Amino acid sequence: MTHMRPATTTTTPDVTAIRDVGIIGAGQMGTGIAQVFAQAGFNVHLLDMAEDRLSAAMGTITKGLGRLAEKGKISESDKWDALARIRVGVAYDLLADCDLVIEAASENEQVKRAIFAQLCPVLKPEAHIASNTSSISITRLGASTDRPTKFMGMHFMNPVPVMQLVELIRGIATDETAFALVREVVLKLGKSPVSSEDFPAFIVNRVLLPMINEAVYTLYEGVGSVESIDTALRLGANHPMGPLQLADFIGLDTCLAIMQVLHEGLADSKYRPCPLLVKYVEAGWLGRKTGRGFYDYAGPAPVPTR
Ligand code: NAD
Repeated sequence: MTHMRPATTTTTPDVTAIRDVGIIGAGQMGTGIAQVFAQAGFNVHLLDMAEDRLSAAMGTITKGLGRLAEKGKISESDKWDALARIRVGVAYDLLADCDLVIEAASENEQVKRAIFAQLCPVLKPEAHIASNTSSISITRLGASTDRPTKFMGMHFMNPVPVMQLVELIRGIATDETAFALVREVVLKLGKSPVSSEDFPAFIVNRVLLPMINEAVYTLYEGVGSVESIDTALRLGANHPMGPLQLADFIGLDTCLAIMQVLHEGLADSKYRPCPLLVKYVEAGWLGRKTGRGFYDYAGPAPVPTR
């Protein structure tokens, strides 16, 4: 394939150049990213536009680290040291001294562009920027910043403290030094990087989301109920979670946004988002994070809604 790059040899960059890491967006992903960076010894600066998301994030991280300490995976002092490395705030000057900033706000290109427009003027020129976007073009996002050579995709998986993979995506302008440096950062987190070219939804979601969308069509057409579809894939394909359970876990707004990017970016009708997925998002039934999606999470155990 002509767009694949030849392998290049670079000297290993000095990962100690990255000490202070900014994270924008304290939702499901930003919270997990903040936790793993703090655990790995980085100073973390976590920003959100909503104060309540920041306090919720600190609560989640405290609980997450507490569980690790209870299981003996980290010591009590590791837990307190990690928490002490996290600063939170709503104003961009929080990020002024960061060496790397990871944007993990909502999956909406206009939102992300507006964030970069606020971030770039306060960020030191040598700092790197990464986006945790699941699907939006890294080249286009990079071009909206003042430093496309130092911009790339850093796609963590949910839940971040548990999942091993980080997809790394170069934009057309990303230079090899930046890529190699961020790769070292991923290794320092104890995670495994995989490189993907900058095509809509990269590797994992290019394969995963059409399957989830098809599961929603299967429900929409009445082929099966929520329970039968999820049980079928768990027991019949050995998936650890059923596709509808997984969709609720990812967030139905995020699932829809990724399908729209695939549909528009690859211009193929096979990526058409299922109308039922659109309806659920219009209703505000976004999955676990809003208490209802394909399952209702109000009680002690999730209850299928169809
Ligand atoms: P989320 O809805 O849980 O969190 C988004 C956060 O961004 C919210 O706290 C919101 O207040 C904040 N935000 C929105 N606009 C902002 C702004 N202008 N400035 C500052 N903060 C702002 O979403 P999420 O699931 O954490 O997803 C975040 C990103 O990570 C998206 O790009 C998504 O595609 C990507 N991602 C999600 C998953 C997943 O499974 N959910 C997996 C990998 C990557």
